[in-house]
Amino acid sequence: MLLFPYQPAGLRYYTVNKIESYIRTIPDYPKKGIQFRDVSTLFQDPRGFRMAVDMLLHPYAGQPIDKVAALEARGFILGGAIAHQLSVGFVPIRKQGKLPGETMHEDYTLEYGEATMEIHVDAIEKGERVLLVDDLIATGGTCEAGIKLLQRSGANIVGSAFIIDLPALGGKKLIESLGVDVHILCEFDGD
Ligand code: AMP
Repeated sequence: MLLFPYQPAGLRYYTVNKIESYIRTIPDYPKKGIQFRDVSTLFQDPRGFRMAVDMLLHPYAGQPIDKVAALEARGFILGGAIAHQLSVGFVPIRKQGKLPGETMHEDYTLEYGEATMEIHVDAIEKGERVLLVDDLIATGGTCEAGIKLLQRSGANIVGSAFIIDLPALGGKKLIESLGVDVHILCEFDGD
């Protein structure tokens, strides 16, 4: 916990908490052995949410960005706020069967089984500079599917931004090996 160096009038002893202090860990959810990193406690806190949005877009401030894309579902909460802050459009990358228009899809591997992500074929114009956002990167499989969809759409991916990295699962390294910059706000041990 840091004391804010410049105290606004009427806000004495205003404190700045670290981003990870807003995140709740729920053991054995959704199944035994998983430590679920729950960002709903961060989203419901006015300073936590503000801080997360500001920190996620901080490296990209002043850079030309045409659109923010985000991964279902918690990524949408962050991506919408970041897109609004940058005054750019927002593109949802959704689980199979949720988007109403014509889509293209990418299959990817989950811990158990396969899943599919989709994007509208007309969501991105060729050459648009896109920032990809989600709450957490674990194995990087979901993000990799999102990157492939954006690249097939003709996007120029400016970077990817996450609140949480689980370094033990190697997702950040995987995405960097694809040539995409990864910006994270904090790390947690384990999976
Ligand atoms: P991955 O494709 O393995 O990188 O998984 C990333 C996606 O799964 C993100 O959309 C996360 O919201 C979710 N996820 C994976 N592991 C966790 C975890 N331990 N706690 C919370 N969400 C997780």
